[in-house]
Amino acid sequence: MLVSYHNHTRWSDGSSTIAEMVEGALDQGLDELGISDHFVLFPDRREVDWSMPLDLLGEYVAELKDTASRLDGMQLRLGVEADYLPGMEEQLKSELEKHPLDFVVCSVHYVDEFPVDADRKYWDPLPQERVNDIWRHYWLRVRDMAAARIGDIVAHLDLPKKYGFRPTVDLSAEEDQALDAIRAADLAIEINTAGWSLSAEEAYPSLRLLRKARQRGIPLVISADAHSPAHLTRHFGRARELAREAGYDRLLRFHQRERFEIPL
Ligand SMILES: [Zn+2]
Ligand SMILES: [Zn+2]
Repeated sequence: MLVSYHNHTRWSDGSSTIAEMVEGALDQGLDELGISDHFVLFPDRREVDWSMPLDLLGEYVAELKDTASRLDGMQLRLGVEADYLPGMEEQLKSELEKHPLDFVVCSVHYVDEFPVDADRKYWDPLPQERVNDIWRHYWLRVRDMAAARIGDIVAHLDLPKKYGFRPTVDLSAEEDQALDAIRAADLAIEINTAGWSLSAEEAYPSLRLLRKARQRGIPLVISADAHSPAHLTRHFGRARELAREAGYDRLLRFHQRERFEIPL
């Protein structure tokens, strides 16, 4: 079974419509396609240009539902990628619960006001100490996000490596706290294959972290984080190898916020 969740359309920062993504998925023989456009709920409700407008979540879900109802031979799964922002947990959950979503990808893109994956120009001037600090706080945010049980799948686990800036201190205690919280909340993680095409030059997360996740029994999905149809299954063969290397033999699929195991 070939499934690809965590993909973006023009509703947020993708380059294609839902219909174009569906067409691409059918061409590539997907059994299930998940669309998960960004939904970023700041305390001041400010709009960011890479998120869908906050008041259009209902319209977005309606277009997905309508498209899904007219499909034959492939399932379209309704999702969002929701940002974790401290203090917004309950409001976010209640906004999401109003809609018949199949899955929610949850992400940390901000450490306080620092945009982790927006542009390398934010990282370039940082002294190494600050880089270490951002990484440390990033892991604590992931821990808190998991504890708040906002979503079903924790996205791109080691995202701060995107532009190649790595910590030079041992953060294994913070990583372990994040992974333990994910396990305790019974959430899944993803192999996000986009990292292989970026300066990180490896998938999110690294094999080392993936092994730690496997040891804890944290379930897995393989995601492309595609922003165009051409990338819907990018590096999926490599991702399956990586998953096997870490000891996985099953993946997950989602329907109405419930998960089902499929063989890797
Ligand atoms: Zn993301
Ligand atoms: Zn994404």
